[in-house]
Amino acid sequence: MDITEAKTPHRPRIVVVGGGFAGLNLVKKLNKKYFEVILVDSNNYHSFPPLFYQIASSGLDPSSISFPFRREMRKGSVKGVKYQMGEVSAIDFSRKEVTTQYETLSYDKLVIAAGTTNNFFGNDELIKSVYTIKSVPEAIRCRDEILERMERATLTSDKALRKKLLSFTVIGGGPTGVEIAGALGEMKRYILPREYPTISPDEVSITLIEGSDKLLGAMSAKSSAKALEYLKTLMVDVRLKQIMTSYENETVELGDGTTMEAGMVIWTAGVTARKFDFAGNTPQLDKSSRFVVDTSCRVSGLDDVYALGDISFMPTDSNPKGYPQLAQVAIQQAVHLAGELNTGKFTEFRYKDKGAMATVGRNLAVADLPHVSLSGFIAWLTWMFIHLISILGMRNKLTVLITWIWAYCSYPTSLRLIIRPSRYPLKSKHL
Ligand SMILES: Cc1cc2nc3c(=O)[nH]c(=O)nc-3n(C[C@H](O)[C@H](O)[C@H](O)COP(=O)(O)OP(=O)(O)OC[C@H]3O[C@@H](n4cnc5c(N)ncnc54)[C@H](O)[C@@H]3O)c2cc1C
Repeated sequence: MDITEAKTPHRPRIVVVGGGFAGLNLVKKLNKKYFEVILVDSNNYHSFPPLFYQIASSGLDPSSISFPFRREMRKGSVKGVKYQMGEVSAIDFSRKEVTTQYETLSYDKLVIAAGTTNNFFGNDELIKSVYTIKSVPEAIRCRDEILERMERATLTSDKALRKKLLSFTVIGGGPTGVEIAGALGEMKRYILPREYPTISPDEVSITLIEGSDKLLGAMSAKSSAKALEYLKTLMVDVRLKQIMTSYENETVELGDGTTMEAGMVIWTAGVTARKFDFAGNTPQLDKSSRFVVDTSCRVSGLDDVYALGDISFMPTDSNPKGYPQLAQVAIQQAVHLAGELNTGKFTEFRYKDKGAMATVGRNLAVADLPHVSLSGFIAWLTWMFIHLISILGMRNKLTVLITWIWAYCSYPTSLRLIIRPSRYPLKSKHL
């Protein structure tokens, strides 16, 4: 793009759908002198998915890992960006418009960075019976259920009912599955005896089901083996090479035909891209509904439409399966696309792998860094440090740090709250 043209009062409008790692980093880097930038997100806050499991397990308060967009928009690098709340449901590529429940917005350039949602692999009815932790509200729902089950168990002497209430099954042995299973294991081992003395740890069962032959499939064999060892220390029953084929009447059926009682199932087994209704043109999508993009983040076959982060699929000769759905990929793609749009020069994106990590419990984590694999206490410290510096906002960083230090010393009780939204009054018809 010609920069003199861009500096005219009629700046081309870039609409960015989604203010996650990709969308927020993009709007920070776009040159607001050249472009009118509008960020649309269904929530009024940016959140930090790697720590959702800590909300679900009462380790952190939701507000400590969520950050209001409007506060962010006041900061230097984001100044000039307009935030508009709305869930984009439809995109018309020929009229160059996106539609939310509140408005239709026109764009000159569109960046789709709406991330993913849970994938139930065709069994969509599961959404009614399993718990997920793919968003802050889902994590809160999961937390409330775990706590209510514990409270309810203290109120009955019916052994069969107690067993049902206290049987937790996690589906999926990726980082989220390992982390939530580990957190439940810690609750069983350390919290129950202190806060629920009438429940014996033997009455609580935690099972993790993983389809492949190892946990943390994308990590090194050493890290997978360590994660397995740590989960066993926390009394989690890990079953590898098993898949859940159905879940009905509080019973999980596994691929080998066996069944097991599972009062609460936490599903972390897969994600699929957010979906939209399209008009005017149909973009090329992969089998997970992700937008197929070229190495410059341009959506194949469409003009002025870009996709970033988890919702994009960027196959290359050296990487035909595309990049992993990780925060670093989303952030690096965002910085790359901002540079391209600011200069009008499109170049090849190259991902710089900074490693992967997962935590299982206190002092128990694994980290595959570019030149070294770490485990145990040192990996746990590294994990905490990386997550702390990545959380948005100084207040949030400090809150998380203090909460973790406090929890390390005393396992606080203050976050194990069941807070249900009140039912009345009914929501205004305008909202
Ligand atoms: C539980 C969990 C744990 C994870 N742990 C790790 C980890 O440890 N390390 C790591 O690197 N990665 C981790 N990830 C993956 C990482 O979070 C993603 O790769 C990253 O968030 C992708 O960024 P994104 O911007 O593409 O999408 P997201 O961060 O998901 O952001 C999407 C944004 O779009 C908004 N949105 C969605 N639909 C619409 C719509 N229709 N209209 C408007 N707005 C919309 C959402 O509200 C959200 O703000 C984890 C993910 C989850 C769910």
